[in-house]
Parts: sequence; structure tokens; C-alpha cells
Amino acid sequence: MQNQSINPRIAGLSPYKPGKPVDEVARELGINDIVKLASNENPRGPGAKVQQAIAEAATELSRYPDGGGFALKARLSQKIGVDANQLTLGNGSNDVLDLIARVVLEPGAQAIIAEHSFVVYRLAVTCGGGDLVTVPAKNYGSDLAAMLDAVTDATRLIFIANPNNPTGTRTPGSELLPFLQAVPEHVWVVLDEAYLEYVEDDDHINGATLLARFPNLIVTRTFSKVYGLAAVRFGYGASSPAFADLLNRARQPFNVNSLAMAASLAALEDDDYVNESVALNRAGMAQMTEGLTRLGYDFIPSAGNFVAFDSAEPGNDLFQRMLREGVIVRAIAEYGLPNHVRVSIGLASENERFLSVLAKVGSHARPKSTHQAES
Ligand SMILES: *Cc1c(COP(=O)(O)O)cnc(C)c1O
Repeated sequence: MQNQSINPRIAGLSPYKPGKPVDEVARELGINDIVKLASNENPRGPGAKVQQAIAEAATELSRYPDGGGFALKARLSQKIGVDANQLTLGNGSNDVLDLIARVVLEPGAQAIIAEHSFVVYRLAVTCGGGDLVTVPAKNYGSDLAAMLDAVTDATRLIFIANPNNPTGTRTPGSELLPFLQAVPEHVWVVLDEAYLEYVEDDDHINGATLLARFPNLIVTRTFSKVYGLAAVRFGYGASSPAFADLLNRARQPFNVNSLAMAASLAALEDDDYVNESVALNRAGMAQMTEGLTRLGYDFIPSAGNFVAFDSAEPGNDLFQRMLREGVIVRAIAEYGLPNHVRVSIGLASENERFLSVLAKVGSHARPKSTHQAES
């Protein structure tokens, strides 16, 4: 770039690649019947209570939102068992991840992440002015022992997604607890629980229950996944009151809009929606993993609402061929998994469509000779 007056960290970033939007694919390919299984969204659409709450809140749009988020914090705090002053509300949990990095990091400070972890950590650390330390994964998941070994005097932050995206790997409580006990007090641990609600294993620990024991722990959650509200952008952090106070000083005063607050409040009153979504995911995960196995694809066992499978060819090639059939999945080369594809669990009919298209255009579908001739 000609003009040198740019922060070189920002100039060196690559733009975040979102899942391809349905409208864009429809426009480009002239297909109407498109299935998007690319962004781990809830396939059901928002619940009726949420839609009604948004319609009601729409009459107040000329007013600034409640910058302190009083009502939402009060309800959330009851629901998850922390005090309201431990909460930080965000424009999606990505907003909170970004705030954490800005509050904690400065030049020379290090943040540790696991290989194959969520790309937003890299973005937050880079923009937050710190240096990223990436620790190799173990069985595609966070290697907590190795992450602990990577801690130095310069370390200030460790990010752990539990379950992790895009691999779906999970850290059980029996590993998480000793890890938190061993992390030095000067290091903040961010436990990103975007997919917590989908985990049904008994040995899982809900990070919010650990905040009283570990003052250096910060838990983040989102309404973009099981709550079905990816478009409205709401997530939150839970931490010690002192750290929440710092995050709240650094955030933009009106970072969460009124519609997001109204929708999230309503979503918190709709346990049926959450429970039904978890049940739908459980059945869909069985359908998808059985289908993948039947078609001869290895997959990484997932605790989330998505599964990454070995495409047995560059994942982007499969992504492109599936796209032409109207099925949007996600190639994850940017996560260090060039031969894997991540597919979100959809409605039963969407999962079926994915499996039939994979059967048609996947590398295992085609005779070897044809495959080689084309590549
Ligand atoms: C989807 C996801 C989030 C949620 O981000 P929002 O900004 O709340 O939409 C956070 N962390 C991980 C690992 C995710 O996959």
C-alpha cells in the first residue's frame, strides 16, 4: 500500500470469511432451492415469542437503547447464577472477545490459542496489540498441558473454546479443572462456551459455576447458536465484577441494540425452544454422522451443532461442487484443516439433501480414474 500511515497489524489481516449467504448463491447460480449449512446457525428460525418481542420493541426505535442493559442483565444473572455486576453485554460474543483482548493486551503481551481454534481469537489479539502464540492441537482439540507449558511471563490471555469450532472437540471437566488450578494468576483464561447448550455429557463443566473459584476466568456465551438469534447479534461475558467493570469501561456505550435486548430477553423465557433445538440437533447429528460413515467419510466426533469431516480432497474443491448443487457448506483450510469440510446440522430434510449431494459429488462417489482425470 502506498500510504504508510496504517497500523501494519491491520494491513496484515485477512478479512473474515463468513459462510456464503443464501441470496448471493441464489443470484450467482440462479437456483432457488438452497440449503445453507455453513455457519452453525439454528435451522429452525427464531421462536414466536422472540418475533413478537421484536415487533413490540420496534415502536421504540427512535430512542437510544438502555446502555446498561439493566433488564437483560437482571434476567441473565438469575438464569445463570452470577451477579449482574459480573456481566458484560456484547454485540455478539465476538464483541466481548474483542473487548477482552483490548482490555488485557498491549505491545509485547502474549495470548495463547490452540491450533484449529476459532479465527476471531486471532483477529481480537491482533487488533488488541498483542502477540499470538499458537499451540499444536491434540486429536484436533485444545492440548491443555501444552498450552500450560507455553505460558511465559509475557502471557496474559489463553483462549479455549469448549466445545471448539470448527472441530467440535470438547474439554471435559476432569481436564478443565486441573488446568484452571495450574494456570498462574497473572493469566486470564477465556472459556468460550458458544455451544455449551448442545453438550449433553455428564462430565462437562459449565464455566459460570467456576467463576467464584477462579477470579482469572472469563466465560463467554452467545445467542447466535441454540437461541436462534445470529442476526440480531447478542452475546455476553461473565467474569469477576472487577474485570466486568474494566470491560464495561472499554465497550462502546450502546453496543447492544434495543431489538437484540428485547429478542434475547424473550428467548430467555422460551426454554421449550432451546430444549427442542437441542433434541433436533441430537437427532440430526446421528443422521449426519451415520450418513457420513455410510458414504465412507471420516469425521471428528463433535459436541456442537456441526461436524467436520475429512473430504479426502481439498475441502474447497468439495465446497465448490456442493455449492453448484445448492448446498452451502464450509471449507476450513483457514483453520489449518485443508482437507476437511464443516457442515452444520440442519433440519432433517436439509441433512438428507446434504447427504444425497455428497453421495453424488463427493470424492468417494466418483470412480478413481474420473477423479484423477478431473484434478
Ligand atoms: C459462533 C461462535 C461464536 C459466536 O459469535 P457471536 O459473535 O456471538 O455470533 C463464538 N465463539 C465460537 C467458537 C463460535 O463458533
